[in-house]
Amino acid sequence: MPEVVFPLDSRKKFTEQPIVGHNRWHPDVPAQVRVRPGDVFRVDCREWFDGAIRNDDSADDILNAPLASVHVLSGPIHVEGVEPGDLLIVDIVDVGPIPQEDSGPLAGQGWGYTGVFATRNGGGFLTEQFPDAYKVIWDFQGGVATSRHVPHVSFTGIVHPGLMGTAPSAELLRTWNAREQALIDTDPHRVPALALPPNPDSAVLGNLTGAEFDRVAAEGARTAPPRENGGNQDIKNLTKGSRVFYPVFVDGAKLSMGDLHFSQGDGEITFCGAIEMGGFMDVHVDVIKGGMSKYGVSENAIFMPGRSDPQYSEWLAFSGTSVTLDGEQRYLDSHLSYQRACMHAIDYLQQFGYSAIQAYMILGAAPIEGRLSGVVDIPNSCSTVYLPTEIFDFDVRPGKDGPTAIDPGQGVPVARA
Ligand code: ZN
Repeated sequence: MPEVVFPLDSRKKFTEQPIVGHNRWHPDVPAQVRVRPGDVFRVDCREWFDGAIRNDDSADDILNAPLASVHVLSGPIHVEGVEPGDLLIVDIVDVGPIPQEDSGPLAGQGWGYTGVFATRNGGGFLTEQFPDAYKVIWDFQGGVATSRHVPHVSFTGIVHPGLMGTAPSAELLRTWNAREQALIDTDPHRVPALALPPNPDSAVLGNLTGAEFDRVAAEGARTAPPRENGGNQDIKNLTKGSRVFYPVFVDGAKLSMGDLHFSQGDGEITFCGAIEMGGFMDVHVDVIKGGMSKYGVSENAIFMPGRSDPQYSEWLAFSGTSVTLDGEQRYLDSHLSYQRACMHAIDYLQQFGYSAIQAYMILGAAPIEGRLSGVVDIPNSCSTVYLPTEIFDFDVRPGKDGPTAIDPGQGVPVARA
């Protein structure tokens, strides 16, 4: 096993660990770990809510999920000799849940969860259809996820980090905060919010203290969106074997990671939305000097996905177009057409006996494929969502005898907002 440079005790809170990570992006969060190009090392990662979500049959914890506290990230890690303008090479050598024998009461490690936030607490992709808080617990065994809340479905994990990235420069941070505030200003009271501005409440900034802590907490960018530094990209294909090339904006790159997922569908449509878990990552780092200009990579990270995907070969696909549920025609709106494709799949699965929220949870957690199938055929974009048929223990395909009735079991815990 590689040296553990960022250890976490899963029985303790994030702020009580020997090395304290962070939950805001800022160039002045101090690096507490130093590695060299060529090194292979292990980083433990807390699940993104630091143990606030429990393995039980109530969604009260999701209803009151402390969004200001996310994401608890492991890092920053300073890579010696790496400078602004370089590309940082990050190989995901291995990634997985914390071994079950190590799990404490706060861990979440032979299990994980998928949540849907209430509209007033973040919402989600289909928040108009699902305004309350919902939670599903998934159990992991032999690399496969099953749930007492969503029976008749099981699938192989596609384990990946939801979030990994380098620190922004002071200038880039100012750009982020200005452009996101300008968006918020277009509709400042919208529920859910258009974006999340800096918020000192619940900020964790490594070992910073005093006035420096206050300054960085007031300026630090929230970790929810992906940006030029990578960040919360939620790309399910960043499995082990992946190689990512991150733009570098500060000395040492200041690499951070977290938000591990046991599985996720394209789009992470449920928002709390993959199967969230804590775990470990084994990482190899290297550098391409001057790589940002050599390869024209300044917009965001580029990557070569790993090959350890579950092997599903049979699919049932649903399409949607950019027309609202009220029948209003929108112009090539791929976000809307993906919503309609997903709603289409949810309607279909309900014919077998699933509740709408059970179907929504399957789309968020299982390795579904989402595609922008057509983006030019005015006025309708066409988005598609592909369900692997082999994850169901009944025949989910249409046939002449009509849908098989399944027992939906106890269903999904809900907390009314
Ligand atoms: Zn996540």
